[in-house]
Amino acid sequence: MPSSRRPSSTVRHDPVHGQVEVRRSARRRRTISARREDGRTVVLVPAGASAADEDRWVTQMLGRIATREIRRRPSDEALLRRAAELSERYLGGRARPTSVRWVTNQRRRWGSCTPSEGTIRLSDRLQGMPEHVVDYVLLHELAHLVVPGHGHRFWALLSGYGELERARGFLEGVSWRAGEPPPDHPEEDDRDPSDGVDDAQVSVR
Ligand SMILES: [Zn+2]
Repeated sequence: MPSSRRPSSTVRHDPVHGQVEVRRSARRRRTISARREDGRTVVLVPAGASAADEDRWVTQMLGRIATREIRRRPSDEALLRRAAELSERYLGGRARPTSVRWVTNQRRRWGSCTPSEGTIRLSDRLQGMPEHVVDYVLLHELAHLVVPGHGHRFWALLSGYGELERARGFLEGVSWRAGEPPPDHPEEDDRDPSDGVDDAQVSVR
């Protein structure tokens, strides 16, 4: 094997996904795939891939894996990984949740968080909804870890998320069908950011 060949397998550490092993396969020409194996993510790339291509593919595949997990088997662990990814992409990594979990006791709120503890809870009613909707609720709660209320600064944080209006419209439609109050109805435990309360239980609306 020529010395210019890159090793057939390397392991890197990704802040969101943990251990990521990149395996190069001579049998692979153009296809790239990824899977979870023993708690690490394995990305298979063609042996001849350049370092730049490899980096780009790995990033792409990691994003796809996180999306797939959240849809198929939305474990709390997968949620936390997804949260880290969304925070990185849209909030410059400023939101660092300590836990993200599904809860069964939130019938009227899609999500809630406790900024002082960095905890986020999502209603299990979101399970099975399109990923851009779950992402929106997750991102919404993440943004509250940075800005507690629903003021201008809060919405400015979310402005980079292209599916914002579509996701809100979807949730409005679900609420409307269920005969629930309109989404702009102030929730009793929403606080104004000017209160300076950092322990507000905030929710999606
Ligand atoms: Zn909110």
